[in-house]
Amino acid sequence: MKMLAPLNGASEETIREALNNKQRVCSNEKLRKLIARDDKRFKDNAGPWTILHNMVEKILKPNGFVLYYQIANPHEPEDSPARYYQLTVSDEFWLRNGRDFGKICIGLDGKYDLNIDRAPVLSIVVENNASCGTPLAFTLSNKENHMTIRMAVSAVKQNIPCNNNNCEHNWYYEDLHDAKGFKRICPCSQNNLWNPYMMIDKHRPSKLGIEGLTCGAILCWFHIMQTLGNHLKEWQIPQQFR
Ligand SMILES: [Zn+2]
Repeated sequence: MKMLAPLNGASEETIREALNNKQRVCSNEKLRKLIARDDKRFKDNAGPWTILHNMVEKILKPNGFVLYYQIANPHEPEDSPARYYQLTVSDEFWLRNGRDFGKICIGLDGKYDLNIDRAPVLSIVVENNASCGTPLAFTLSNKENHMTIRMAVSAVKQNIPCNNNNCEHNWYYEDLHDAKGFKRICPCSQNNLWNPYMMIDKHRPSKLGIEGLTCGAILCWFHIMQTLGNHLKEWQIPQQFR
């Protein structure tokens, strides 16, 4: 991945060509750096979560990409949000898209197979004016439940920029009071009411997570039909009535 980074945004064909020409993708100098980096990680005993933590502190936070970061506290009770790990990331452009295209409805969906630890990743997306799905924010947590979903949606809500073109939409970071971590706040997000419907799957925690926080929840059509189909099968409704 790291070696392909300079080709970020290149066409599929260019990337394929580069992959075929391994000498070009991985020069001796690049290889030396990668080995040195891995040796250092091995020496520091740094696993992927430590690497991610360093990335959050040194790269993502200074650039304002982190909306919310919370280190899990296993001593907290299960019904306390502070018990859970949470990293929500976004981008100025994504947040503007959220403001412009996510007025009426945004989509939420969790996936468990995006990393080897099967840590849930919640994607929050909007549909842009070209009818394409575009990201608004991603959240990595150690458990998908109504508390982690709520933290993610409120982090986004506190950072949707206002509608004023002359505003610089300044933001700042504030340390969390009851947990270890920090959150990003864009004060002008208070100026306009961002209160879309959330399109969710049938997963109950998502509905609980956003209750009172936004306009309301609507179920994704695909999931409604899938659930209905499953129920029809379970109830053994004859085929001709389905
Ligand atoms: Zn603003």
